[in-house]
Amino acid sequence: MQLRYSFRLYPNAGQRIALARAFGCARVVYNDALRARETARAEGLPFPKTGDLSKTLITEAKTTPERAWLTEVSAVVLQQSLRDLDTAYRNFFDGLKGKRPRMGAPRYKSRKDTRQAVRFTANARWSITPGRKLRLPKIGDVRVKWSRTLPSTPSTVTVVKDSAGRYFASFVVETGPGELLPQTTPELGIDLGLGHFAVLSDGRKIDSPRFLRRAEKHLKKTQHALARKEKGSKNRDKARVRVARAHARVADARREFHHQLSTKLIRENQAIAVEDLSVKGLARTRLAKSVHDAGWSAFVAMLEYKAARYGRTLIRIGRFEPTSQVCSACGAKDGPKPLHIRVWICGACGAVLDRDINAAVNIAKAAGLAVTARGAQVRPVSVPAQRSEAGTHPTPQPSTAR
Ligand SMILES: [Zn+2]
Repeated sequence: MQLRYSFRLYPNAGQRIALARAFGCARVVYNDALRARETARAEGLPFPKTGDLSKTLITEAKTTPERAWLTEVSAVVLQQSLRDLDTAYRNFFDGLKGKRPRMGAPRYKSRKDTRQAVRFTANARWSITPGRKLRLPKIGDVRVKWSRTLPSTPSTVTVVKDSAGRYFASFVVETGPGELLPQTTPELGIDLGLGHFAVLSDGRKIDSPRFLRRAEKHLKKTQHALARKEKGSKNRDKARVRVARAHARVADARREFHHQLSTKLIRENQAIAVEDLSVKGLARTRLAKSVHDAGWSAFVAMLEYKAARYGRTLIRIGRFEPTSQVCSACGAKDGPKPLHIRVWICGACGAVLDRDINAAVNIAKAAGLAVTARGAQVRPVSVPAQRSEAGTHPTPQPSTAR
């Protein structure tokens, strides 16, 4: 399978100029090709082939005064730009044929686009130098922050500049078998909860880490500062850049947290069950209320590819399970409970249940996993009396749990 690895790049001033030139040239070739195809279509001519466009828009154009500057960047970058346009067209046509979700027709790229990118394939002879820098043709040896180790040598690197003005190298790495983790026994259900980021069927509750909360707090501060700046002022522009940077930092911190947690859970467990977030209606009601909302699907996607990669199983519960209505210990269903009820006592078996952990256990059970309901039970002494249940519940059984 193919995996993407992203690393921060720190180009120097000269390299930033060279990269800006590469982004610009790739954009011009893309737009020229798009225009050639649009013109052909408007005139009822056949759809120009990529090979022909490459000849006229790159090879021949370089010899003209208007496009001579195309020689200043790697030819591979320009070829890849044509490939990108092909992909955009293919996706568009496949959408029309109903083979995939509908997409808009390819659009012209602008220098003001928030994301600029160029791609170097093996043909471009890019490399990683002995000094661990990224050597890019006609750009130079760019400093990289290697935050993770690449599992194998990548064939392709995409250099990206985001809206916050940061540069990244994104490598596509082909990973083969032979990386499977040794088999293990634990199985796990995860409830993507409201109060916590995730609650696990083994009784653990996971909150956002401090580095993410700090980044979020900083983002709020910059947003407030922006709101106070006068419209059209220089200070407002500066504040806007600060907000963009803070946004990017939150996104990075969140991704880092998702990576850490998903890797840990995949290592620890042989099988993991989660609710399928796409279950209709669920997103609008329960999830919409949560601040973690945006992060969950990215987190579940990470769990999924890591499971595939390391030989673990990820199961999505594809239908809505009334996870808070059923006792995970005995299976008795005693109806919905208002959200403020965090702990209750099962009327049938007397188990004292933590709402979130009970849900996580039920998710695991709905997936057919072998988990015990023990984690869902809390010590009876810690249970605040529920007014609605006072006088009606049986004596809680002593629990061996945590
Ligand atoms: Zn029960």
